[in-house]
Amino acid sequence: MADIASDEGFLLAILNSTPVADGVPMDEFADPARARVWLTSAGGLGTEAELRHVVEVRRLLQAVVRGELAPDVLDPALRGVTRVPAMEGGHVNWTLSVPPGRELAVRAVLAWDSLARQSPGRLRPCANDECRLFLIDHSKANAARWCSMAACGNRMKARRHYQRTRNTRVLKRDG
Ligand SMILES: [Zn+2]
Repeated sequence: MADIASDEGFLLAILNSTPVADGVPMDEFADPARARVWLTSAGGLGTEAELRHVVEVRRLLQAVVRGELAPDVLDPALRGVTRVPAMEGGHVNWTLSVPPGRELAVRAVLAWDSLARQSPGRLRPCANDECRLFLIDHSKANAARWCSMAACGNRMKARRHYQRTRNTRVLKRDG
């Protein structure tokens, strides 16, 4: 999983927790015991309710990034979230107040939003249609298409090469 210390890495870890391994869709949160360990390591409570929230928000975020749902579906995930002002060092300091057990789901939504604002179009699904992972493209050209060159890039290139050579052979045979 990605480095979850940064909000971006955390978001990517959530989005990419349903990979396809050897053609079989997996869910890294399917085993509640294992999922709770992960939630705790990410700073959560590790409760069943929290896991449900995270899994639901993951489903919505994945659909939003794939363009299948409008971002407004994320609204319920933000309910009850407020900003609380307090004087600190002579200044007003605002802290986010999130209902207990919803911190991780809210963090994922806020990370998605800040990425969408600051780097629109940089978060996208892997172009390999058999892959369910997402990528955040930081390159200058913004032309990355694969979750990773090793996992999908080379495979897709090999497939295209195979199709090209096969098509050429078919053409030659016909001609
Ligand atoms: Zn991929």
